[in-house]
Amino acid sequence: MSDWRKTIQHALPDAKISEPLAKYTTFRIGGPADLFVDLENNQQLVMLMRMAKEAKQPVMFIGWGSNMLVRDGGVRGIVARLRGDFEKIEFPGGNRVSAGAAVRVPQLVTACAAQGLCGDESLVGVPGTVGGALVMNAGTREGEIGPLVVEVETFDPRTLAAATLHAKDLHFEYRKSNLEGRIVLGCVLQLKPGDKVDIMKRVQDFQQKRLRTQPIHTYNVGSTFKNPQGKFVAKLIEEAGLKGMTVGGARISPMHANFIENFADAKAADVLALVGKIQAQIKKSLGLDLELEMKVVGEP
Ligand SMILES: Cc1cc2nc3c(=O)[nH]c(=O)nc-3n(C[C@H](O)[C@H](O)[C@H](O)COP(=O)(O)OP(=O)(O)OC[C@H]3O[C@@H](n4cnc5c(N)ncnc54)[C@H](O)[C@@H]3O)c2cc1C
Repeated sequence: MSDWRKTIQHALPDAKISEPLAKYTTFRIGGPADLFVDLENNQQLVMLMRMAKEAKQPVMFIGWGSNMLVRDGGVRGIVARLRGDFEKIEFPGGNRVSAGAAVRVPQLVTACAAQGLCGDESLVGVPGTVGGALVMNAGTREGEIGPLVVEVETFDPRTLAAATLHAKDLHFEYRKSNLEGRIVLGCVLQLKPGDKVDIMKRVQDFQQKRLRTQPIHTYNVGSTFKNPQGKFVAKLIEEAGLKGMTVGGARISPMHANFIENFADAKAADVLALVGKIQAQIKKSLGLDLELEMKVVGEP
């Protein structure tokens, strides 16, 4: 065991050495992190980042792991997850909500609905955290999180200082933002007032639609690929006759062709081999390059 891990574990006793990451992702796939740390508050965050800097170790943040394929060799350095103080939701007035980065998006949407606030209902089926949703500009055909953002609280690992980025500093596009590479601690969103019963009805309709159209009870990370301009990748994969195709324990979902499921102890290598087959087939038949939406991290 190298010293830096013991030193950090001494300061943050819950830190876990060689922690398998599979259980922290909705794919249930992934090798170990050299060190895995849950951070409960700002003080622990600053402590970890300072120690990581001294030890010259990279720190990767993970939310709900619902958009992440961790490769089988795991992640070198530190994987950190925000908890505790970062799981708070507050309503400061002005039809705004303030949410910590570790709040789950469905929980945020239902809390807002209960306050008679709307504009975010379609996000109820995004299973990740607010932090992950902001970095990814998570969204649906009905709307994305980006346009709702008033400000984002971030932490700069170089200066070890927090910084508030306002809407004018932020750039959101399809499943992409300029928050990538920063540490997101929380945000304020601008919502609209509405009738609580109507809002809750819309939330439930979105949830029901998911149940009908997506394999949400299997191990997956949602959409594998981004939709090419003006096209639905699920339709392209289905028309190419690939639905249900398997490699090892990974399968193109029989329910939704842009979802890959871990149906039998899949390795990341299985998922990536399947991704490669889909990309090759779509390139061959349609001349299109499919871009990954899920994030692939770690060592092969
Ligand atoms: C069944 C299912 C349905 C889904 N449906 C949708 C959908 O409709 N629309 C959609 O957009 N997505 C969808 N997703 C994908 C996923 O839920 C979203 O991309 C979500 O925003 C990811 O959040 P997360 O907390 O799980 O992030 P993770 O997967 O943990 O991380 C994603 C990226 O964000 C970074 N990150 C996470 N937290 C932080 C932080 N605090 N600070 C800095 N970086 C951070 C990670 O390092 C990584 O690069 C779906 C996934 C599943 C499993």
